[in-house]
Parts: sequence; C-alpha cells; structure tokens
Amino acid sequence: MDEKTKALKKYFGFDSFHPGQEILIDALLAGQDVLGIMPTGAGKSICYQIPAILFHGITLVVSPLLSLMKDQVRALNAAGVPSAYINSSLTEGQIRKALLFASQGKYRIIYVAPERLTSAGFLRFALDADISLLAVDEAHCISQWGQDFRPSYLKIAEFASQLKTRPVIGAFTATATEQVKNDIAASLRLRTPQILVTGFDRKNLFFSVQRPRNKDQWILDYLSRHRDESGILYCATRKNTEKLYELLNRNGFPTVRYHAGMTSQERVESQDQFIFDRVPRVAATNAFGMGIDKSNVRYVIHYNMPQSMENYYQEAGRAGRDGEESECILLFSPQDIIIGRYMIDAREQNGEMTEEAFEALKRRDLIKLRQMEKYCTQEGCLRQSILKYFGEDAPDHCGHCSWCTGSQPLTDATREAQLACAGVVELNGRFGLITTAKVLTGTLNGEEQRAKFAPRSCYKALEDLSETEARSLLEQMIREEILLRDESGVYPLIKAGPGAAALLEGKRRFLWRKPEETSAHKKTPLADSGADREELLSRLREVRAGLAALRKVPPYIIFSDRTLNDMCVKLPVSRDDFMTVSGVGFRKAEEYGEAFLSAIRSYCLAHSLKTVPGEAAARKPRKTYTLEQRKKFSLTAEEAQRFVPLREPCSSAQLAQALSALKAPPEIKKLYGTDLEERLAHAGWWILEGNGMRKRVLPQGARNGLKESARSGKAGTPYTVLEYPPDAQRNVLALYTDGQTDP
Ligand code: ADP
Ligand code: MG
Repeated sequence: MDEKTKALKKYFGFDSFHPGQEILIDALLAGQDVLGIMPTGAGKSICYQIPAILFHGITLVVSPLLSLMKDQVRALNAAGVPSAYINSSLTEGQIRKALLFASQGKYRIIYVAPERLTSAGFLRFALDADISLLAVDEAHCISQWGQDFRPSYLKIAEFASQLKTRPVIGAFTATATEQVKNDIAASLRLRTPQILVTGFDRKNLFFSVQRPRNKDQWILDYLSRHRDESGILYCATRKNTEKLYELLNRNGFPTVRYHAGMTSQERVESQDQFIFDRVPRVAATNAFGMGIDKSNVRYVIHYNMPQSMENYYQEAGRAGRDGEESECILLFSPQDIIIGRYMIDAREQNGEMTEEAFEALKRRDLIKLRQMEKYCTQEGCLRQSILKYFGEDAPDHCGHCSWCTGSQPLTDATREAQLACAGVVELNGRFGLITTAKVLTGTLNGEEQRAKFAPRSCYKALEDLSETEARSLLEQMIREEILLRDESGVYPLIKAGPGAAALLEGKRRFLWRKPEETSAHKKTPLADSGADREELLSRLREVRAGLAALRKVPPYIIFSDRTLNDMCVKLPVSRDDFMTVSGVGFRKAEEYGEAFLSAIRSYCLAHSLKTVPGEAAARKPRKTYTLEQRKKFSLTAEEAQRFVPLREPCSSAQLAQALSALKAPPEIKKLYGTDLEERLAHAGWWILEGNGMRKRVLPQGARNGLKESARSGKAGTPYTVLEYPPDAQRNVLALYTDGQTDP
C-alpha cells in the first residue's frame, strides 16, 4: 500500500479513493499545481488534506465561509489531524494564540478567510513559516462571472508570491463553466496545472418528480415513512415555508424553518437545531443551504418547482453528500408555473441596470423557468435530462429515477393512439379532454349521452383502457403535438395537431407509459433497504447523538450515516473488526470504538446473533423491531399493571424505556423516546415552537400532567424538553394500553 492510501485508511477510515482524487493528490505530491472541478460530495477536501498530512510543511486552506471552516476543522481534529482556523469569529487574543501555535508547528492544516492573507499579523507569521501547500477551496469565488464573487480572492496570488518559497497551489470548485475555469487559472497564476473535471452525475441520488393531488397529504405520508431521517423541504415563498412549517409541527413532525424574513439570530438557531440533529427537518426558502456541509441529509423535497435547473441541482444536491442513497423529490403542480412567472414579473429594477439589460435578464429567466417546467412534465429519464442540461452526455435510461423505475413499462401504444386520433377527427374537435376520453372508453354518464354517441365508430374504441388511462394517453399525444388543445373558446377543445397525419398513416410510432396513481404509499427503494436493521441503526444514532452532545459537535462529525450503516452490516464486535468499517480511522476507533461496540454487542446478544471476533462478515441482522412495529407498540392491561412509576420527573427516553421493559423479553427496546414524543404530538399534547427551540405543552398535555423544562444549549441558547411527573407517566401508560383510544 502506498503512503497516500495508508493515510486515507489511517485518518479517514476509507479503503479507496473516489474517481479523480488520486490524480490530483499525486500531482500535488509531485509539486504540480492542480485545478480540480468536481461536483458536490465528490470529496474535494480529501484531495488537499491527504497531501497536507504527507507534506513536511504547513498547508493553508483559503475558504470563503466561517461555517465551512469550522466544520472542516472539527472533522479534521476528530480524525486526528491537528488543525485550526483563523477568521473574524475569533478574538484578537485567540488569533494571536493560534498564530503562535501555528509557528510552533502545532497544526498540519490552517484554514483562513481570504481577507486574512493581507493582514499584517498573519503575513508576519506566513513569511517565516514553512508552507508546503496553498489550497483554494470554492475557487469559483475568484471569478466575477460566478454568483459568489469575493474580491479578496483576487489577492491570493499576490500573497503566494511574497512567501519565501512559492508553495504548490491547488484550486477546487464545483462550478464548471469555461469562463470560471479560465479565471481561476489566470488569477491564481497556476503553473502548468493538472486540470481535472469529473462528471456531474451523483449516482446515489434518486431523482423523482411527483404530481400529487394534495401536496400536504403527500408530504405527511412521506414523512411518516421517513421520521428519523434528516431532510430539507424547500418552498418557493416565505409564506409557503411558514405554512408548511406549521402543518408539519401540527401533525407531530418536529420541524424548524429558515427564510430571509427571520432575524439572523433566529436563522442561526434553526440552522444549529438542524445541523446538530436535534430537529430532523427544516422547511426553508432557497436562502437556506449556502455553506452547509451536513453530510446526512437523506431527502430534499421541493414543495414548489424552483426557478431554474441550476437552482434545482444545487439545492437537491444537498442530499446525500456522504454517498448514501438519498432522494430528491420535486412536487409539481401547474400552479407552480404561475408562481414562478409571478416571481419574475414582480422583481424590481434596482437602478443598477439599464432598462434593456433588466428586460433581457427577465427574458433569460423566463427561458430558464420553461426549461424547469420541461423537466417536470417531460417523458423520459430525469437524470439524462439533468446531465444534458449541464452539457454532459448520458444514456437514455439511468434506472435510478422515478421515470426509469416507474412500475409501468413503456409500451408501444401506436394502435391506441391511432384509434384515439381517429376518434378526435370523427368528433370534429368539438369536445374537451374529459368528454373525449369518456367517449373513447364508453364511460359516459346517463342513458341519453350514451345513446347520442353509441352510433359513432369511435365509441368504446378504447374499451380496454380506464378513463384515467385514456386521459393520460390524450395528454401525452398533446405533448407530442399529435393532438392540440384549442384554448380560443370558452372551454378548451381537443383537435388534431400537426403530428396527426404521420401517426394515422403509420409513419411514426407512439410510446406510452400507463399512468400510476401518484400516491405516497408506493414503496421507494430507500424504504425497502433499511427496514430490517432499523432497530440497531436507531440505537447507534443514539450513541452518536450522546457523544456529539458531550463534545458539542454535530453528530456527523462523529460518524456519517454511511459509517453507521456499514456497522449494521458488518456487526463488528472487536476493535479490529471495528477498524474494517468504512469511515473509521485510528483516532475515531480509539475515541468512540467502545461506545459503539458495546451497543452492537448487546444487540447481537439480544438477537442471539453469533458473534466471533475477527469475523465481521457481511451478514444481515434478523428482522426485529422495525419502525412500523414500534409505531404499533401497545400494552395489554396485564402488562400495564406491572408499571411502577419512576420517582423523579423523567424524560421521554426514560419513560419509553420503562414502557418497553414491561413487555417480554424486557431487555429489548421496543419503543424509543422519539416514538413516544411523536405519538404525544399526534395526540395534541405538545407542539414544537419558538423556531424549533421550544417544546410547548398544549392544554391537552397539561391536563395529563405533562411538563416542559427549560435547558440551555451551547452559547446559552435556551430550549425546552418534555418532562413526566408520575401522574403524566400514568396517563401516557394509559394511552399505550389496549382498549384505550386516542383522546
Ligand atoms: P466536496 O467538497 O467535493 O463537496 P467533501 O470533501 O465534503 O466533498 O466530501 C464529501 C463526503 O465524501 C464526505 O463525507 C467525505 O468524508 C466523503 N469522502 C471523500 N472521499 C472519500 C473516499 N475516498 N471514500 C469514501 N468517502 C469519501
Ligand atoms: Mg467542499
């Protein structure tokens, strides 16, 4: 094994490099500048972090956002790579101390904001220091053509030229346009750089467009199957965001919100609640997400259609940075097009542009909106459509989007289409879509109606199709311009279109997919795969949450979801086994190993799974208490009798554990604190408020003795948790006892 692969395993716990990483790392190690253009989640950080570990000198990383720096430095220190950041969030004293430590060689990697490079104190340090590598992250900030232009990025080259020896320079971004690429290379004065552009496909993302009749209901159904998972729900407007935020909390799905109408303090709170996994969901406008590297976002749902494919791919791309299966779902309704147009029209001229430039911008945005609309309504592979939009070639069929996996196969419906087309001609284009479909399928209401159309040869011509199917067929024919919708009169009428003749003459084929009822009950690939290890996974999540709270870092800094999943598959029971789990490096194995191992051992014991150290084989745990079963948790009157109230006011987790211990065998957990809270939220006992910080007891809960108790988080932010004095414990017990109905 070579040095870089050893370092990858030792510090980050990964066995192999992602595509492209090795090329860039090799170049840097050989002293060649690099320009790496790779999509979000491709693993750009590793490309400069591994060389940083192997170089003898220090690595400086220029990064534009405080939150990104903080996150990366936390993750590096947790992995055993001593690192620090120097930016405006530190006091003068802290900065001096950090620079002192830096000059003593205590850090391998130092993150700095671009402005820092020109400050006197920092320059003094840098001129003396042995700097091997200068890495520029989010390098598109250099370009005035990009959205995130930062003038201070232009000073980087000047800074580098002042150093004793010019370090090797690496630039990284996810923006691929030619203009941005050239700007970066020129502004940083890269010397014959190794340029690498990897594909923009994100294989672990499942893309889906849905047209539910009722979006709210659809989301509630979806969330009930993805309760524990972290997700972002994007809305087009603040108003929609607020509405969704309220709907979800009212229905027992704790959610925070984020939009530009909130104070910056409130926004920071929401963001923290979400990043630290204290609240799994955020309802947000597109103001949310910049600078957020949370790796375990399992789904991104768009409640409304976004304004452009660029926006969509960026927002949806926040799912699945850890490489685990994740879903990107767009809920489309024709109403969204109207909202989108309105938002473009309502935009104000801010005086910075000429009238013509402003109008041109509007026209461009309308075109982008139309392209977005096409994505939502087209027939064909969604992934292909995205990649083509970004100028990449892609096959017709990706097998991993809602179109490719639609349970109905695409069939040759040329014959049906011909019959329908002939019918429209015979009816002389005098009827609308619904009547035409009813005539073709013979599903007209009323004797009189039937008698009127029965003599026509098109009556019942498509008898084998249902009315809904016939309507979908006609709609698809309209999209392909075989038919057209004439909207000049009071009612839209269906007429033959420009493509009708070719079809009737047998000169073209017609492919069609029978519609499925869009219902959230359809199983998604995600829901299937996770079911049987659900219990262990929740347990491991709890262990992770505990460690994270203790260290005041977000849970994904401890381990990613992907790593927890791998533990569920490998079931390691010894330290050596533990090191085989993807994402476990030496430092994390030392620090966190025992906590996770003991949880896994007791799980194996409880489920009589044989566990031989050294055999962390790929075995699947037996089916046990799934989320579904936990939701159905109930007690018999006899079991309830055995309950002895816990003396102190207890927490949700303690009460859930006590209730689950009433059932045999008592040592297996069958109910979790979160299950219990959701159940009580459904029963109207409490509601999440105050921007996600406050669990407020409602009158129904107060009548039952439920209490809230104030706590304070890091930086003194107050929040509340639920507490159960003995009478509340008894009332919760009653709620779970057979024969009791919800109040
Ligand atoms: P980017 O900056 O390109 O968006 P990151 O550097 O944040 O991506 O990495 C995204 C995720 O991929 C991180 O969770 C990281 O730990 C993981 N990752 C990076 N390289 C590898 C690898 N070789 N094997 C497995 N996971 C990796
Ligand atoms: Mg990055």
